[in-house]
Amino acid sequence: MTLTPAKKITVGVLGATGSVGQKFVQLLADHPWFEIASLAASGRSAGMPYQEAVAWLGPSAMPEGMARMNVQACEPDLPCRLVFSALDAGVAGEVEQKFARAGYIVVSNARNHRLDPDVPLLVPEVNSDHLAMVEHQRFGGGMIITNPNCSTIGLVIALKPLADAFGIRGVSVVTLQALSGAGYPGVPSLDILDNVIPFIRDEEEKMQAEPLKILGDYSNGSVTNADLRVSAQCNRVGVADGHLECISVKLANGASRQDLRDAWQHFRGEPQRLKLPMAPLKPIYYLEGESFPQPRLHRNLDKGMAVSIGRLRECTVFDYKFVAVSHNTVRGAAGGAILCAELLVQKGYTD
Ligand code: NAP
Repeated sequence: MTLTPAKKITVGVLGATGSVGQKFVQLLADHPWFEIASLAASGRSAGMPYQEAVAWLGPSAMPEGMARMNVQACEPDLPCRLVFSALDAGVAGEVEQKFARAGYIVVSNARNHRLDPDVPLLVPEVNSDHLAMVEHQRFGGGMIITNPNCSTIGLVIALKPLADAFGIRGVSVVTLQALSGAGYPGVPSLDILDNVIPFIRDEEEKMQAEPLKILGDYSNGSVTNADLRVSAQCNRVGVADGHLECISVKLANGASRQDLRDAWQHFRGEPQRLKLPMAPLKPIYYLEGESFPQPRLHRNLDKGMAVSIGRLRECTVFDYKFVAVSHNTVRGAAGGAILCAELLVQKGYTD
């Protein structure tokens, strides 16, 4: 049963002026449980009204209440207990620790603490049990919870039902990643127009390491990594939003194509059982069209929180190959982090 908070929980957004920060502002504007009390960013933006500090990218208008709110510095004196971090990785590590030590609950999109042994790397449909790691953290009253890399999230949601049903020995993934994944203003237009860039700094390393922790077993405060190898090749393409991934898998046990489709079709996680506000009705949609899924057509499926899968076929090297699409700034960043925070509320960590 879902426990709706008696009154809205005030929250802050660190890095509120960036590409992901703006998505937080959009998604939190009408959130039934959370209410934004603070918007914070760098010294360049602090002291300015939000509408002047930000180059608003959203398809919808800036939420009214936010436009005149003054941007604050990222100092732990904000009038809330929970903060979402969309900070640049160059500063996120230190700032997030400072907030956690001051007693704040930090839900972060940045890479800095993802592989710390006592920090959950959380995808609520996949490893909600890992959240209990926060009870072993070293920050006093505060805590840090992280969201995986935006491409990792689509990948692990697609893999989880297969890992549970058949076991997975190896994965090869080639990504075609959207421009918004590079932040704002991101990649220069003359670099990406009429072009594909076959390099995204540190991305392949993250995609190869993070799934092992997320799909690992949790017990007594620590995670044993999944016994699995992932090989990733990451490319930047001229798509605004939505990462596409071509995935090949080697399974531990034999399975038919229909078995894989059934595993995806029936997959549900803790957010669906708890009916969390940000949860998609189904984490995975299998699409029949021969040229589906596509970023422009499918990134917004089920609030931008679902992963679309299609083109499942046998592979001549691995066992099967398929294509997945997920929204990088919603499912892969702000929406995924809000879902983590909703789970925290349900499990009583914000009381
Ligand atoms: P972005 O557009 O470059 O925004 C970065 C934010 O960090 C801005 O609000 C900026 O504030 C703030 N910032 C920079 N230096 C700062 C400082 N010294 N002190 C305080 N604030 C500072 O980046 P983004 O794409 O939104 O990504 C934000 C984080 O999420 C990154 O760690 C990124 O790796 C991660 N992430 C991004 C995606 C995605 O799809 N974009 C997906 C998953 C995770 P000013 O405007 O004041 O400079």
